[in-house]
Amino acid sequence: MTASIKAEHVSNPWQGEILNPDRTYRMLIDGQFVEGGAGETLSCEYPYTGETWGSFPVATHEDVDRAVRAARRAYDEGWSSTSASYRASLLRKLSDLIDGDAKDISLLEIHQNGKVLSETSWEVPYTQMVAHYSAGLIEADYGHTVNSMIPDVVAYTVREPLGVVVAITPWNGPLGSLAQKLFPALAAGNTVVVKPSEVTPAETLWLGEKIMEAGFPAGVVNIVNGPGITVGRALVAHPLVDHVTFTGGTATGLEIAQICAGRAATYTLELGGKSPNIVFDSADLDRAVSGVMTGIFSASGQSCAAGSRILIQESISDEFFDTLATRINALRLGDPLDPATQISPVASRAQLAKVLSYIEIAQKEGATTLVGGGRATGPGLGDGFFVKPTIFTNVTNDSTVSRDEIFGPVGAVIRFKDEDDAVRIANDTRFGLAAGVWTENIALAHRMTRRLHTGIVWVNNYRLGELVMPWGGYGMTGGGREMGVEALRPYQGTKAIYIDLGNPLPF
Ligand code: NAD
Repeated sequence: MTASIKAEHVSNPWQGEILNPDRTYRMLIDGQFVEGGAGETLSCEYPYTGETWGSFPVATHEDVDRAVRAARRAYDEGWSSTSASYRASLLRKLSDLIDGDAKDISLLEIHQNGKVLSETSWEVPYTQMVAHYSAGLIEADYGHTVNSMIPDVVAYTVREPLGVVVAITPWNGPLGSLAQKLFPALAAGNTVVVKPSEVTPAETLWLGEKIMEAGFPAGVVNIVNGPGITVGRALVAHPLVDHVTFTGGTATGLEIAQICAGRAATYTLELGGKSPNIVFDSADLDRAVSGVMTGIFSASGQSCAAGSRILIQESISDEFFDTLATRINALRLGDPLDPATQISPVASRAQLAKVLSYIEIAQKEGATTLVGGGRATGPGLGDGFFVKPTIFTNVTNDSTVSRDEIFGPVGAVIRFKDEDDAVRIANDTRFGLAAGVWTENIALAHRMTRRLHTGIVWVNNYRLGELVMPWGGYGMTGGGREMGVEALRPYQGTKAIYIDLGNPLPF
């Protein structure tokens, strides 16, 4: 870790144990904090300066095997049959233990994925809420007593855990996406092996320490770290793993699905999106301009639900473009730690290269650059991985920039004639995560919520989310749903139990 990062942000100095960049991170295997078996480590890169910091252990195949076997043993030796109230109490204790760390964890995340403070400060409080919510769900969970159609039979169902769950998470919301996998899985009685993104391992390894402090038995939660193509693959392929819950890119998700299918293991996938944000001429246009910008520029566009296809009704498009361009040109790019910053760098060098390549493709395909286009440099931006907030017009729904998930601050504007045209364009995509609808016409709004083939629809807002609502989508978004009142279901099986009261047997 370079001392210059410490010095640059005097208003947010790296201080205290969590923010000590020289802090030692360890993986968690079978209740022990360990280094990677081969002694290999990886560093993180601060997207605002390009400086590397930290030392994070990398798991070997043997480490992965030990972690899965520890989870299997902990499952078989008793965690699965502990009482719901015991598991709930541990989750609540964990939530209490992380209460004071919200600000430090936000800063830690910023130093890995470069997001602005408002995009990271929700993660610890959300994690706490998910722990409490999962605890409440399992305490209130039940099976059914069924009116059997067979005389003299008592028939009922119980919900039971699946076994060893592997949870693989992305870099764009590392703690939040982990919480909504890990806590419902634990509450339901599974044991878990976690692998965070190699871009953002720190919060997950920190949480491992809190998990042990809360008193979870050895092996119930294990954390291994390292690249997806080695550590992630080894986990998914491990024969003792019963279920994989994955949030990340579509290509990775499809590979995981194939490997799991090969041994009939179950999986939950939360993958990419190319979500339409649809502005009708009946919209409050000022609010809709804000909504379009919120959709595509929040988190510098690195959101699975980013409103990256901006559908504008033809009758208002010229006026809308003028206002949109003016508002975008006034956006503040800069230091993620400065509360006035609206657009911060993208999360990594690789992400920067990917986003810039899509900008080039759009330009080669003949798109018109309404605003932005290219890497942003200049005072206050240093060597940061900044992309200019970019909007392309003169594209169709078949242009590459309208088909592929770019995961950066790049929006494609497509004009539509009327409601039917908007629905046709919106649903013409491989993905199906989310959609925004901007209109003051209440009947139109309700019709659109029914006609859009997406897991989430927002009317007159964008990117709302809360743990009492399910999250996920259709098609290449993967079909999984997390959170909501059914948050435990991906981690449970239903068992049918028949008690015979004396029926004759055929033999
Ligand atoms: P990614 O697929 O590159 O990596 C995600 C995780 O998978 C990382 O931990 C990585 O190490 C691991 N991984 C990579 N290759 C693997 C393999 N072959 N086997 C097993 N694990 C492997 O995705 P990312 O770049 O970290 O995240 C961005 C993607 O995540 C975007 O596509 C975004 O839309 C998606 N995402 C979806 C949601 C959702 O809820 N639908 C939420 C957040 C992010």
